[in-house]
Amino acid sequence: YAAKDSRCGVRVYRPEDDHDTARRLALMAGLRVAVDAGTLTVVYQPKVDPTTGRVLGAEALVRWQHDGRPVPPDEFIPLAEQARLIEPLTRHVLDTALADCATWRGLGHELSVAVNLSPDMLTDAALTGRVEQALHRHGLPAAALTLEITENALMADPTNARRTLDALHGLGVKLSIDDFGTGHSSLGRLAHLPIHEVKIDKSFVRHIVTDRSRRAVTDAALQLAHALDLTVVAEGVEEQDELDYLRRHGCHAIQGYLISKPIPPVEFLTWLTTTRAGGRLSV
Ligand code: C2E
Ligand code: MG
Ligand code: MG
Ligand code: MG
Repeated sequence: YAAKDSRCGVRVYRPEDDHDTARRLALMAGLRVAVDAGTLTVVYQPKVDPTTGRVLGAEALVRWQHDGRPVPPDEFIPLAEQARLIEPLTRHVLDTALADCATWRGLGHELSVAVNLSPDMLTDAALTGRVEQALHRHGLPAAALTLEITENALMADPTNARRTLDALHGLGVKLSIDDFGTGHSSLGRLAHLPIHEVKIDKSFVRHIVTDRSRRAVTDAALQLAHALDLTVVAEGVEEQDELDYLRRHGCHAIQGYLISKPIPPVEFLTWLTTTRAGGRLSV
């Protein structure tokens, strides 16, 4: 079989292409039903200060069960983007995350919540108004919300993206660059954006202790962040020696299986109040 991306542009028929298309269509149809019915759920992964052990907030991550099986977001988020379902999906996640955040704060946990935004959302002129209304509905200050955006989202349509970022920043919402190091933006460009936080991608965190060249991305992000007064979060921390390195180098927050996997809201509250007495853990 010729490669799918064969350079002469000819696509050879492969039976598995039909199968892939059928699966994608079935997933899209199922996803539409789930979005309409509001049956997508949200799990939370804490962001923790590696120096004090204080829980700073949590990231909301969407989950979908289709035919009794979980479909990974890396598979269905791109489908949602293609099927124009990303806007209602994001609204659902935002609303759920803000409702849960209001519950935490009502119980005395001064946490913030982070929601992921697909690139397309940044060019949606209605976004800022929707975010403002949702915050109001749940009685939350704008600073309780962080929106995570990938670098590439800013590159696709920089003018519109910039306008949206400025409007969100004007509301008081915090903006975070997700998966930092995997995209194509330069550190210099980020300096001109109203960004509050940079999240070092887990692919770099994974090699912090063993691979000097990949550690360089982490070191550069930490240096940039300190120079620009940004918060640095490391995602995908799985090992104690990764945490130790990040703490020694002034990383402000860590996320990863070492602290907790993403967990459903009820479990998250239990984790906060009982497992980690007082919202702190020993790191
Ligand atoms: P992300 O925003 O970069 O989220 C981090 C991903 O890494 C999550 O995968 C999380 O479960 C996983 N992770 C966290 N700690 C560790 C660790 O220690 N080790 C490893 N190996 N993985 C870890 P998840 O939940 O499968 O989400 C994947 C991606 O899907 C997210 O990457 C985000 O880009 C997207 N996504 C998830 N929820 C939403 C959503 O509500 N809206 C949008 N637009 N995208 C979402
Ligand atoms: Mg994220
Ligand atoms: Mg990330
Ligand atoms: Mg990611």
